[in-house]
Amino acid sequence: MKRQIIEIDQDKCNGCGLCIPNCPEGALQIIDGKARLVSDLFCDGLGACLGHCPLGAITILEREAQEYDERSVMANIVKQGKNVIKAHLEHLKSHHQAAYLKQAVDYLEEMGIENPSSPS
Ligand code: SF4
Repeated sequence: MKRQIIEIDQDKCNGCGLCIPNCPEGALQIIDGKARLVSDLFCDGLGACLGHCPLGAITILEREAQEYDERSVMANIVKQGKNVIKAHLEHLKSHHQAAYLKQAVDYLEEMGIENPSSPS
């Protein structure tokens, strides 16, 4: 499918790593000194990382990509702990991604993992 997804300009990227924590979906990693998109599945194309690159190396383009998969993202996110789960849920909320948010919350329920965003 054709959809929006990030692109990293490898010539501009200096591998500083500032974008990494700003992708709660875990789509970015520094590999061989450059930021790389590790899987199309993990990039929701909403651009949370964009403003965190001091060199303007990250842009959004439209291209053929695998569909974003909320359940795969959640499986990755829950391993990183409560604060990352919370950041991800807030990211979905702030971009009005109600369908993905529901999938994420359902995933937590199914796995018996506490939802750090719900009042308790
Ligand atoms: S913030 Fe920009 S320069 Fe730094 S690693 Fe990420 S893409 Fe590369």
